[in-house]
Amino acid sequence: TEQTLVLIKPDGVQRGLVGDVINRIERKGLTLAALELREVTVELASAHYAEHSERPFFGDLLEFITSAPVVAMVVEGDRAIAAFRQLAGGTDPVEKAAPGTIRGDFGLATQFNIVHGSDSPESAAREISLWFPSLNS
Ligand code: ATP
Repeated sequence: TEQTLVLIKPDGVQRGLVGDVINRIERKGLTLAALELREVTVELASAHYAEHSERPFFGDLLEFITSAPVVAMVVEGDRAIAAFRQLAGGTDPVEKAAPGTIRGDFGLATQFNIVHGSDSPESAAREISLWFPSLNS
């Protein structure tokens, strides 16, 4: 079994998509190991997105992710990392995410693509310890 960090970003929370996203996770057969609605500090957001610090959209990304509460979750199950990325769909909700995925069904802009999911076991371990330091696995 594997764990992945999932975020429902401010756009997903504000649009009332929390229940739908959790429903898709549960119907897939994945389970919740931790879940919290929380405000994101600039420090946490910068650490989470450190790999993008040189990208032109980094400022906008930090501003967006700290603008309103997010739902942070640790999602668990067989191949949880790939399974959640399949549910999420590609980064660009129009060009890359297929209909039937979270982003494909609900998104129009890459900046407002509703969810985040860890992209590798290394990222998952790093992100889970960042968001849920009290969980040890
Ligand atoms: P995430 O890490 O949120 O799951 P991802 O792995 O699909 O997304 P990344 O390439 O890691 O995509 O980009 C991280 C996030 O940065 C994206 O989800 C999106 O919110 C934002 N982002 C990426 N590219 C752009 C862009 N060109 N313009 C604005 N925002 C972007």
